[in-house]
Amino acid sequence: MENCIFCKIVRGEIPTHFTYENEYVVAFPDIHPKAPGHTLVIPKEHHQWFYEVPKETADEWFGAAQMLGLKLKEETGADYLQLSIIGKDVPHAHIHLIPQKL
Ligand SMILES: [Zn+2]
Repeated sequence: MENCIFCKIVRGEIPTHFTYENEYVVAFPDIHPKAPGHTLVIPKEHHQWFYEVPKETADEWFGAAQMLGLKLKEETGADYLQLSIIGKDVPHAHIHLIPQKL
């Protein structure tokens, strides 16, 4: 989508350090982190809502979130990782991975 900020990030129009990338998804730090390590994981394809993301991409997306969640848990010493899926603030489906303490 032309004016979508996350599509611009995927296209490299907004310089962003990707902490992970594969054919389907990218991950990068949230610019307003709620905790150290707060990461966004997004499909490269534009879809507003998670249930609109095609199955193959969704599998990669959740697989990447799970893998990165474990990695972030180890790196930050968090007790667990919160996962939230939103598509309203930026209308491009995205997973928030937020390290949390019990
Ligand atoms: Zn988009």
